[in-house]
Amino acid sequence: MDDTPCRVAAVRDVGPDAVAIDVESPAEFDAAPGQFVKLTFEVDGEAESRFYTVSSPEVGDTFEITVGIDPEGTVGPILADLAPGDELTVSGPFGSDYYEGEPFAVVLAGGPGVGPAVGIAERALEEGNEAAVVYRDDDPIHGDRLDALADRGAFVRRLDADGDLDAATADALAAADADPQLFVYGFADFVDAATAAVEAAGGDAEGAKIENFG
Ligand SMILES: Cc1cc2nc3c(=O)[nH]c(=O)nc-3n(C[C@H](O)[C@H](O)[C@H](O)COP(=O)(O)OP(=O)(O)OC[C@H]3O[C@@H](n4cnc5c(N)ncnc54)[C@H](O)[C@@H]3O)c2cc1C
Repeated sequence: MDDTPCRVAAVRDVGPDAVAIDVESPAEFDAAPGQFVKLTFEVDGEAESRFYTVSSPEVGDTFEITVGIDPEGTVGPILADLAPGDELTVSGPFGSDYYEGEPFAVVLAGGPGVGPAVGIAERALEEGNEAAVVYRDDDPIHGDRLDALADRGAFVRRLDADGDLDAATADALAAADADPQLFVYGFADFVDAATAAVEAAGGDAEGAKIENFG
């Protein structure tokens, strides 16, 4: 889908400096959690585009993105100020590293990477599959959805910046009773740490689906 005007259906605070935004899906739009869309804004007369990853398990009438707001960022504060009825310019979906019905999804997430993590885990459980989420963040978000996933039997481990990512990754892989598919979502420093943790745990880093936020 090329640049298309889409209305904002809802904006929810999901934790410190973070919002989840429901966007009305155009008729032809289809995407899986882990794929991403491009949003384009006009800032000081210039077009500014940023990517945001689908964080809802489905994309029926609406799809959700989860945004970590950098108050000094160019686009983040614009997204934080959105209200229902506002219009966004959306293209996509893009990306090949998304959930495709694998029997056991192990998702390693840093910062706003928890968006696709909860979307993938929810989709996996809805399809009768299994999921594990390891989430590292000093200011965790999406607490309600992570609690609900744990209540439904998913492995969920939350870590602060000093948490032991290697041990949590090894535990998540050990929880998998089927051959796990690894997913990694977050900014570059987290992706590096998560890839190292997978290798340390003897997991399949080469086969991991990885989306680097920049
Ligand atoms: C494929 C892809 C998918 C993405 N998906 C998401 C998503 O689902 N949710 C989301 O919030 N962002 C996501 N991003 C990042 C997003 O596109 C923007 O880069 C981010 O929101 C900052 O934009 P900005 O205009 O506010 O900041 P800018 O004016 O661009 O500058 C802020 C700078 O800080 C960096 N930055 C911002 N926050 C952090 C952080 N927590 N840790 C490390 N560096 C940081 C940015 O990369 C940038 O270099 C994704 C990026 C890519 C490439």
